[in-house]
Amino acid sequence: MSEFNDRMTVEFDSISRNESFARVVVAAFVARLNPTLEEVADIKTAVSEAVTNSIIHGYEDEKGTIRIEACIVEDTITVIVTDRGVGIEDINKAMEPMYTSKPELERSGMGFAFMEAFMDELFVESKVNQGTVVTMRKVIGKGEDKWNDNVK
Ligand code: ATP
Ligand code: MG
Repeated sequence: MSEFNDRMTVEFDSISRNESFARVVVAAFVARLNPTLEEVADIKTAVSEAVTNSIIHGYEDEKGTIRIEACIVEDTITVIVTDRGVGIEDINKAMEPMYTSKPELERSGMGFAFMEAFMDELFVESKVNQGTVVTMRKVIGKGEDKWNDNVK
C-alpha cells in the first residue's frame, strides 16, 4: 500500500454491533469523493457483508479482531477486510451465489454475490486456519461521467 497517500485503517472486535460501525466508517471515508447516495449505499452493503462474514464464519461468533483498510487513489476506493479466523477451504465454491456453509442459520449464501454486484472488483484470498482477506474496489462518479458525456 506504499504508493497510497490517502488511506485509513481501523481494527475492531468481531461482534455484530460492529457491522454498522464498519459501514459507517467506510462511508465517512469515501465522502471526500462526493459519491452519490446510491454509491454510498453500495459500499455500505458490501462492507457489511464482508464484516458479517468475518464475524459469523471467520470467527464463528467467538472473539477475534477484524481489520479494515481503505485507500483512495484518484476516483477509486479500495477496501480490504481482514480476519484471522478459520479461513475458506474452497474459495470458488464459497463465492458461488446461493452457496452457504451455514444453511441451518438461514443464511442465503448471497454475501459474495452482493459484494461482486455492488463493487467493481472483488478478490478473495484465504488460508485454512489463518484467515481471509477480502479486497473490494469501486470507481466513484462513473454515472456522472456518463451523464456529462451524453450532454456534451
Ligand atoms: P449470507 O451472506 O447470504 O448471509 P453466507 O454468509 O453463507 O450467507 P456468503 O457471504 O456468500 O454467504 O459466503 C459464502 C460462504 O463462504 C460462507 O457460507 C462461508 O462458508 C464462507 N466464508 C465467507 N466469508 C468467510 C470468512 N471471512 N471466513 C470463513 N469463511 C467464510
Ligand atoms: Mg455472508
